[in-house]
Amino acid sequence: MLRIAQGRVYDPANGIDGEVRDVCLDGGKVVAELPPHAPRIDAGGMVVMPGGVDIHSHIAGPAVNAARKLAPEEHRADVLDRTALTRSGTGGTVPSTFATGYRYALLGYTTVVDAATPPLAARHTLAELRDTPIVDAAFLVLMGNNLPLFKLIREGGRASSVTEAVAWLLEATGGYGVKLVNPGGVEMWKQGNRNVTALDDEVDGLGVTPRRVLEAIAGSVDELGLPHPVHVHCNNLGVAGNWRTTLDTLDTLQGRRAHLAHLQFHAYGGTPGKRPRSRAPELAEHLAAHPEHSADIGQVMFGPATTMTADAPVSAVLRDITGGKWVNADLEAETGCGIVPFEYRERNYVHALQWGIGLELFLLSRDPWRVVLSTDHPNGGSFLSYPRLIRLLMDREFRNEQIGRVNQKAIGRTVLRDDLEREYTLGEIAIITRAGPARLLGLADKGHLGIGADADLTIYREHEDVEQMFATPRYVIKGGQVVVEEGELRQTPPGDLLRVGADHDAEIERTLRPLFDEHYSVQLANYPVREPWLLEPARRIPARRNGSRR
Ligand SMILES: [Zn+2]
Repeated sequence: MLRIAQGRVYDPANGIDGEVRDVCLDGGKVVAELPPHAPRIDAGGMVVMPGGVDIHSHIAGPAVNAARKLAPEEHRADVLDRTALTRSGTGGTVPSTFATGYRYALLGYTTVVDAATPPLAARHTLAELRDTPIVDAAFLVLMGNNLPLFKLIREGGRASSVTEAVAWLLEATGGYGVKLVNPGGVEMWKQGNRNVTALDDEVDGLGVTPRRVLEAIAGSVDELGLPHPVHVHCNNLGVAGNWRTTLDTLDTLQGRRAHLAHLQFHAYGGTPGKRPRSRAPELAEHLAAHPEHSADIGQVMFGPATTMTADAPVSAVLRDITGGKWVNADLEAETGCGIVPFEYRERNYVHALQWGIGLELFLLSRDPWRVVLSTDHPNGGSFLSYPRLIRLLMDREFRNEQIGRVNQKAIGRTVLRDDLEREYTLGEIAIITRAGPARLLGLADKGHLGIGADADLTIYREHEDVEQMFATPRYVIKGGQVVVEEGELRQTPPGDLLRVGADHDAEIERTLRPLFDEHYSVQLANYPVREPWLLEPARRIPARRNGSRR
């Protein structure tokens, strides 16, 4: 039992915007009332919000682990010593599992979604998530370059077999949702170091196009009624002129729910091979007009980053830019992967433009519930940079000073100097970091403080410098337990795995078995994760399947 007394509460999902009130916690949940003798935290003069929810991050699995191995110097420079309470770990842009859990919690985040797991590597992702303390975690399963799925899509006749296979893959992996990364393009890269450039490009020899993959898989996600819509990393990431592909993707998904990952990387005007410019206003306009669509930003923050993506051809381009280290990996029949350590510099035209476009998308957004905060950690920068990003959004003077420091040619290709005087309010920050992502993920117990919500809260001491305020919460409470106090960990309970519960027709294995024999090094029988220590305990969030088909 714990009463958070007399804090200024920001709970936008319940229409509470800075009202002074109590929040009562019992049994890991928010409850209506507690007896008067219940233990209390005096939150007078403090800000109370639900725990942070990160809708798109990269914290576990083989790509993350390869990135750690790629930059040992980062880890040597940032060592967390073992304490009576905590395990040892290392930080840098790609922290170890333990450091990831501790540092997210220290920042007031209590739920994190890993945005890209190859289904074949689900065991690895689960093993790392089990070693990531405190935060509840879910992962999205990569399905945009999967050869068995391509075959089912190509055959088309029985559309339902794609839907059953998608549900089977989610069940086999313990995943939460469906991710598409450069649909079709990664397979083209694996087969001949080429890429698709438009939605109707044929994927060599496979009889599908990016548009067909988008339509089929988004349709299946819809039909299954998954809590989170299809999560799309569009084709042509980073390419000048790619805003047209992004709009084409949104048009293809019109009338269906869809979430676009790291929209900033897909908002470039200009001609391929030439200097990009911003098309953020056009994309902001489209999102405003389409309530079924949402995005996270993928804000670039200056300083070190690690680019890590299933979009292997993009990684090859980045490697040509840096001339440095590069991992390129092939996940047999399912996806690819590329990793390149990176540094974003203020004076660099492209980096400053990317930074500016992210800010434009935030500042032009008309519905904070559908345009939410991310840096695509660690691609645009570490999650540790969120407090600075929040200051850029809330503090116009600070923002304008920063705008004055970066490459001015790039800023001239944005509308940042026009009249973007907007300052996010605390209520809006609570939406883009908690309430919005929780709603987009379909996590009904997260991102709010209504009765029955998970007792995940962050309590901040108000500070003129909001970067400082958000960097060091006064208290962080996870599942009703105080896990952080004054910037120090107090407890490190394990987090839950959040997985989806979506039924499938068992007959689909008869269709999948020969496809496995043809394409995989693993037999179908050995593919699903069954190890209890990887899967339990978990919370299943049920899908609401469209009743008409079964
Ligand atoms: Zn990502």
